[in-house]
Amino acid sequence: MTAAPWILAVLVSGGMGLLIGSFLNVVVYRVPAGMSIATPASACPTCHTPIRAGDNVPVLSWLLLRGRCRSCATPISARYPIVELATGLFFVIVAARLWPLADVPTEARPLVGRLLALVAFLYLAAVSVALGVIDVEHHRLPDAIVLPAYAVGLVLLGASSALTGDWAALLRGGVGLVGLLAFYGVAWFAYPTGMGLGDVKLAGVLGLFLAWLGWGEFAVGAFSAFLVGGLFSVALLVTRRATRKSGIPFGPWMLVGAWVGIFIGGAVFSAYLSVFGLA
Ligand SMILES: [Zn+2]
Repeated sequence: MTAAPWILAVLVSGGMGLLIGSFLNVVVYRVPAGMSIATPASACPTCHTPIRAGDNVPVLSWLLLRGRCRSCATPISARYPIVELATGLFFVIVAARLWPLADVPTEARPLVGRLLALVAFLYLAAVSVALGVIDVEHHRLPDAIVLPAYAVGLVLLGASSALTGDWAALLRGGVGLVGLLAFYGVAWFAYPTGMGLGDVKLAGVLGLFLAWLGWGEFAVGAFSAFLVGGLFSVALLVTRRATRKSGIPFGPWMLVGAWVGIFIGGAVFSAYLSVFGLA
């Protein structure tokens, strides 16, 4: 029966991911435009007919409507179901990573602590999807999404540490926040054309979450941003699809790098240390 809470956590996370993906479609459209994400209700951008609740089921509605508005038959972008499906799958793998089957606590306090950490990282996943899409489209990382992530991360990860008694994780997270924020701050100051201030503000959030998990996650997560971003830029330059000045946004690579760190950073770091006989 030990597998039951794990399967439940993974399935519930996947379902939540589909619904939150649907909300993220609203976020990535409205936040860069400075619109409220709460009102008005979603409507067809062509005929302005409000979208019925029954036509707002993630992925399924788009398939049933065959990608067209029910009223005016204007095509609905495939981006909507893609963002929903991607967020659902993302949530499943985050739940599987943050909630390892082998070590689900049996006592209430550590169990709730672990659950809060899972919620924190699912929140980071949702923020990552929204910021990734917005940065690629608009070359911006809106404060309205980045700044609340500091508060949410500190509160949820802090409460998780308090309940599990893992204060070292919270201390690490604080050091990671300040460390990565300072590193990007210095880089931004030295090469203002290389990255935006939005990247600096995002760095603190990623530093907090990565270091809270462990130094391996932090090191691999921070380094991977430059590795994958650099490789991608070189590939674009080589294939001549970009010039040196095309200003490829760096935010998506910071996010991809961070998730590489979250998923495999611990393992990569131990392997690296063992090569040098340090662990
Ligand atoms: Zn319509």
